[in-house]
Amino acid sequence: MMTESPLRADIVEVGRRMYARGYTASNDGNISVRLGADRLLMTPKSVCKGFMTPDMMCITDLEGRKLQGDRDPSSEMLMHLEVYRQRPDVQAVVHAHPPIATGFAVAGIPLDRAVLAEVLTTLGSIPIAEYATPSTRELPEAVRKYVKAHDGMLLANHGALTVGPDVYAAYYKMETIEHFAKISLVARLLGRENLISREEVMRLQELRGSYGIKAPAPICTDDQTVVDVCQVVQAPAGDGRRLIPDDVDGVVVPPVAARDEVSPKPSTKAEAEIRLTYRELSALIEDAIRNLR
Ligand SMILES: [Zn+2]
Repeated sequence: MMTESPLRADIVEVGRRMYARGYTASNDGNISVRLGADRLLMTPKSVCKGFMTPDMMCITDLEGRKLQGDRDPSSEMLMHLEVYRQRPDVQAVVHAHPPIATGFAVAGIPLDRAVLAEVLTTLGSIPIAEYATPSTRELPEAVRKYVKAHDGMLLANHGALTVGPDVYAAYYKMETIEHFAKISLVARLLGRENLISREEVMRLQELRGSYGIKAPAPICTDDQTVVDVCQVVQAPAGDGRRLIPDDVDGVVVPPVAARDEVSPKPSTKAEAEIRLTYRELSALIEDAIRNLR
């Protein structure tokens, strides 16, 4: 276990990086680390994460009682406490509002499609925890469902949460989520998102073991699997192919704007959006009226 002083410095540095990269604005976001078996070191409420100093941090017990510090602990302390309760292996928790990943959280689109090998071997899937009022007891309840099996998740209409064996590992997972969100957004804007096949996903999962990557749960490619024991990834059967074009078998990934808020999964061709110019639409209506006569 590291001593307290380097951990305070690490939190300051991670806060500075989050603010510099635009993952937080104003006083958003919070960071905590375990300090021994029964104490946490946590960012205080109402400070900009880009301009913290080591002496600003609070020390609390695992029930959230403040033990040391001039300032009060983060307003999202309850969410942090819940993560440490559910995951004895976790040593650090990072919460931020990275804008592109948060855009997916606002659109109700989880980052759970098999697209990037690196993301599959590290985070697996990135689900969306149900909407909860920030800083209330609702938020830890929403997070509880996913945190046992996931090291990173989106928070509906709010932001993202990552955990790790130290504060830098948790922070890097936040970077991975935002980077993955950016790539996914570009691919969808370009109109094509080829998916890694189910078989290849399983091969990547085996690589996790050989690289020594510790994951809280295995990857599953079956929708029916429960999210608290499994990382559910959307990956089609490959039949020998490793990449599956997104328009195979009548499955189309519609542009982001065409997606139904409550239906984040790929729609069939029959449900895909059709765009017409005003002139084309008028011609169609005129045709229909002519046919009626
Ligand atoms: Zn927040």
